[in-house]
Amino acid sequence: MKRVYLDYAAATPLDNEVGKVMVKTARSFANPSASYSSARTAKEILRLARKSVAMFLGANSTEIIFISGATEANNLAILGYARAHKAPKARIISIATEHASVYEPLLQLEREGFEVVWCPVDESGQVKQAELKKLINSKTILITISAVNSEFGTVQPIAEICRLAKQANKNVVIHTDASAATNLNLQVNRLGVDLLTLSGAKVYGPKSAGVLYVRRGTKLEPTAFGGAQQRGLRPGSEDVVAAAGMAKALELASQHRKVDNLKFQALYLKLISFVQKNYPKAIINGHKKSRVFWCVSICFAGINGEDLVASLDAAGLEVATGAACEASNDRPSRALMTLGLNSGQAQGSLRVSFGRSTSGDDVDRFLAALSNCLKQFGYN
Ligand code: PMP
Repeated sequence: MKRVYLDYAAATPLDNEVGKVMVKTARSFANPSASYSSARTAKEILRLARKSVAMFLGANSTEIIFISGATEANNLAILGYARAHKAPKARIISIATEHASVYEPLLQLEREGFEVVWCPVDESGQVKQAELKKLINSKTILITISAVNSEFGTVQPIAEICRLAKQANKNVVIHTDASAATNLNLQVNRLGVDLLTLSGAKVYGPKSAGVLYVRRGTKLEPTAFGGAQQRGLRPGSEDVVAAAGMAKALELASQHRKVDNLKFQALYLKLISFVQKNYPKAIINGHKKSRVFWCVSICFAGINGEDLVASLDAAGLEVATGAACEASNDRPSRALMTLGLNSGQAQGSLRVSFGRSTSGDDVDRFLAALSNCLKQFGYN
């Protein structure tokens, strides 16, 4: 029987169209920094990819950095901006539900002497804006808050946060990890962000490909040294093929956005109405409305989420407990605990995430298998 993959928040398949672009451009292997004809072809592919990504973000080509993925982009944005603006008591504000690739660089900056402050969130995971306002002082240099939480799907009001932050301190720079937000409008001037991260692995693009948008005038210290490529911010020979693939993936994300989102909402409603009807004690995590509908997190308190994932896997269903990047530690999810869940609830979490090829039948199969597994575990 066909296996059903429902972990698109962890990885998306490469779109066929993206694959075709990558195969076509793969022949242009020359280093785009060289000065002969085939290098000029590679350079032109890179230029067009940069232009296309810039268009997706409503940005300028010079503001686009191609990078190895969201982890490296988040590190460069956060470490790079902070280290370039080091000052006594320099403050950075974030929230404790962030992905490890935002959270861990912030812990590193704390060790380097920066003041890192965690703004409280409400039980849906949204930033408490009044608290944020109070935390922004004259020493605040950076705020980093992801556009969408990839564990429970809550969307942050990034435009409002940027407005509020710049009113409180016009010099504050705002970074957002938008890896899980590519089915939303990410025009940077509408959002008001200065730094923005994207990941190829989450948008049907190449793995180990990403983008960091850096608003003109935003000074970063590189995290790697030894080349003049990409203004020295990301030295090293550019991966032209990955860049072309990333550009195509984002172009397709814009094209599919409307249809995808309508489908995801229908699948989400199908799933949660079944769960709410049959398991009234289960908790649906995250915001009810201000959310992406392709990512659903449910807590079945008292169940071990990893055991449930294993049973579902044996039945042909592939889902997760939470962020794959933290899967190797068996602590309950930091993000879910931040929402106020206790460890028993957080440990019983299941994350189901839909993709472009997910059908209603896939969700029906998931729900049938879930019922069987929960019955075996004695959950009701
Ligand atoms: N941010 C978020 C929100 C993610 O979900 C992920 C991937 N799990 C990353 C960053 C890291 O992305 P990459 O694998 O491209 O480094």
